[in-house]
Amino acid sequence: MPLTNKEERNLRAFNAAHQFLREFNLNWYPIDPIEIINKKAPKWKVASVEDLASILDVTETEAIAALLRGSKDGVTHYAIENEQYLIWLNADDAISFSRFRWTAMHEIGHIYLGHFTDNKVSYITENNPDIPPDEYEQLEKEANIFAGEVLASKWVMRSLDIFDENQIAEICGIEDTYALVQYQKATAGYEYEPPNVTVTKRRFALFKEEIGICKSLDDLRFPSFGTTNKAIAKLPKPIVSFLRKSGICHFCGGDHNNPNANFCIYCGAALKMDATKKTAPCGHINNGRAAYCEECGQKVIKIRRGYCAESEDEI
Ligand SMILES: [Zn+2]
Ligand SMILES: [Zn+2]
Ligand SMILES: [Zn+2]
Repeated sequence: MPLTNKEERNLRAFNAAHQFLREFNLNWYPIDPIEIINKKAPKWKVASVEDLASILDVTETEAIAALLRGSKDGVTHYAIENEQYLIWLNADDAISFSRFRWTAMHEIGHIYLGHFTDNKVSYITENNPDIPPDEYEQLEKEANIFAGEVLASKWVMRSLDIFDENQIAEICGIEDTYALVQYQKATAGYEYEPPNVTVTKRRFALFKEEIGICKSLDDLRFPSFGTTNKAIAKLPKPIVSFLRKSGICHFCGGDHNNPNANFCIYCGAALKMDATKKTAPCGHINNGRAAYCEECGQKVIKIRRGYCAESEDEI
């Protein structure tokens, strides 16, 4: 039963986005809609207008005119007989990947929110005579709320201490002007934090975790977010041998909690007889309190895991 109240429907789209994040276990930005569509096979399929043009042996312009029905970016066709969704996307070089990402998630939104089945239509475009104009507008709004919330939930951003719209765009890969405007519109009405956001924020805990990474700034995805921890000053005299404890640096008294550390993460002192400082960063990941690398003794960069690499597997 479609809800009648627009605000309720908007809230439903918002909640569906968080359910979607859970269902597909999404926990890293940027989120890749194409990977999600491919996972959902065989019910959802994605193809480019360029693919279609070559199959039909027509120009891309003709393919766009025939299939996208006036939409420049993409459209979904729902085959009611076999409940298959085919998402056609314009992958022209003139369309940036971030705009493409937005369009793909918007189309997924239409499918996931049940727009095709609720309205018994095989495509959702402005010129579909089976969709009244105000209903079309509402469906578009819901798909945009969904896309904004999945790709760049403002609440998750706040939990990352990001309040600047351009930083959100950069981290979530929606920096294209079109995508950014759509995102701003979709999330403009957010005033309170709904309960299911808490669950989503927990899912992004690893992305959010602060680490002390032993790498040069140039090798990080978002170097501008990198800082350093202040080193702890060494004690006037090292702790005498019979009072030393495992995991406590006897040069500064810091509790580094790792009996196998070569160097103290707080003061950089060598903790093993044979430990020699390296000249190039070793790539080791230290905890977020580290000023120095416990493996090689180099200064480390304090940064969130998610800002170091494109995916969880890379780090
Ligand atoms: Zn749409
Ligand atoms: Zn120390
Ligand atoms: Zn290192």
